[in-house]
Amino acid sequence: MDCIFCKIVNKQIPSALVYEDPNFLAFLDISPANKGHALVIPKQHYETYTDLPDNVLKELAVVTKKVAEAINKSLNPDGLNIFMNNKQAAGQIVPHAHYHIVPRFKNDGIRFEWPHKKYDDGENKVYAEKIRNSMQ
Ligand code: 5GP
Ligand code: ZN
Repeated sequence: MDCIFCKIVNKQIPSALVYEDPNFLAFLDISPANKGHALVIPKQHYETYTDLPDNVLKELAVVTKKVAEAINKSLNPDGLNIFMNNKQAAGQIVPHAHYHIVPRFKNDGIRFEWPHKKYDDGENKVYAEKIRNSMQ
């Protein structure tokens, strides 16, 4: 598989390793938003968040927390952003599901901005119902 993160898992390309166990890996982003910006991945290749089996997702969340706690302890940031981009339209460049953990510092100049759009009257209920009715 021609996936850069699978190659990192297989040690075909090097990374600055932060955590490894039999099923998960965390390493530093090569081009960090702030120094210490880490990526947490399952070793098995899945493309997006919703592709992850529940058991993998649960363990990934726990590993992500472990790495986040270590970043807090070692780098003492003022905050953390923890997020996942899913599909190209949402900014995913590497199609191997990964959490970003970005240590944040007051006045670090990073802006995660999105527009604050408005619903027409009652439209939020329509959207909520649509989503609710699609839940399994
Ligand atoms: P995405 O946009 O897919 O959510 O994030 C992919 C991230 O992977 C980017 O922040 C990018 O800097 C990082 N990245 C891409 N290629 C490599 C690589 O070869 N090694 C490491 N450590 N990070 C990478
Ligand atoms: Zn992969």
